[in-house]
Amino acid sequence: MSVEIKKVGVIGAGQMGIGISHVCALAGYDVHLLDVSAEQLSAAMSSIEKNIKRQASRGKVEEADANAAVARINSSTEYADLGDCDLVIEAATENEEVKQKIYEKVCPVLKKDAILGSNTSSISITRLASRTDRPARFMGIHFMNPAPLMELIELIRGIATEPEVFETIGGFVRSLGKTPVSAEDFPAFIVNRILLPMINEAVYTLYEGVGSVDAIDTAMKLGAHHPMGPLELADFIGLDTCLAIMQVLHDGLADTKYRPCPLLVKYVEAGWTGRKSGRGFYDYSGETPVPTR
Ligand code: NAD
Repeated sequence: MSVEIKKVGVIGAGQMGIGISHVCALAGYDVHLLDVSAEQLSAAMSSIEKNIKRQASRGKVEEADANAAVARINSSTEYADLGDCDLVIEAATENEEVKQKIYEKVCPVLKKDAILGSNTSSISITRLASRTDRPARFMGIHFMNPAPLMELIELIRGIATEPEVFETIGGFVRSLGKTPVSAEDFPAFIVNRILLPMINEAVYTLYEGVGSVDAIDTAMKLGAHHPMGPLELADFIGLDTCLAIMQVLHDGLADTKYRPCPLLVKYVEAGWTGRKSGRGFYDYSGETPVPTR
């Protein structure tokens, strides 16, 4: 059952939903963005417009294309509005229960042959798929952050994903100008299986007093040529998302080397989730971020 993708639904209007909608609209797809929060949706729509127009002002895209892309995106809190989508990408909070409840709501409104994808960073695609009415038409479509800039999209097949669905999404990813990499369905797939233990280790390095926030980030930028320090990157990803991924690695692989650092847990408990909350390993309230330790 081959499907031609024309309209893409995106569930979750956080930093990833914003970037995914942006990329799909610029590539010519109609987009419908959905969130539980109307407030979040209106902030997301303004961010998308600002980001696409910034690309036009820098000469990265034609102004007419930017305007057309913005006009291609609609938003609402109503699941019925996803009924004519050929592909729906769920990019809501990294919490299995939240995602499961979303699938219970979205599946009954989807077209029979629509493909459902999750942007999860770490949760089992096979298990998520089993909670839907279409495990054969479900797979992981893992965009990197920020989606408009990053070239890679990881594609994860669940045990039941049909080869034709995997191929269709491979073509879709290339139509976005991105490069797909295929990852097997194991906790955190490829990028985060490697990246998150490094970030967690950086938090341990801070926790044990080996270095300050500034020392750790400077060391990795100048000593390993990383474009961002690991703590800066953790704030950018969101400390709640980092913790959720470490918990999936720890539970899924049952190896103590994935134990989330207690300091990371403490920051999340405090609501200091990084850039999105204004405070994490850096304080973002002023002009330039200031290390908090
Ligand atoms: P975020 O916290 O910025 O946004 C999550 C959004 O989901 C919020 O707008 C929230 O209102 C919405 N939401 C929560 N419950 C919902 C529901 N029941 N129905 C609809 N919307 C709901 O998170 P994010 O960083 O955008 O991450 C989203 C997903 O993308 C997660 O699965 C995460 O693991 C994955 N991801 C994140 C990154 C990253 O660097 N942050 C990178 C790749 C993938």
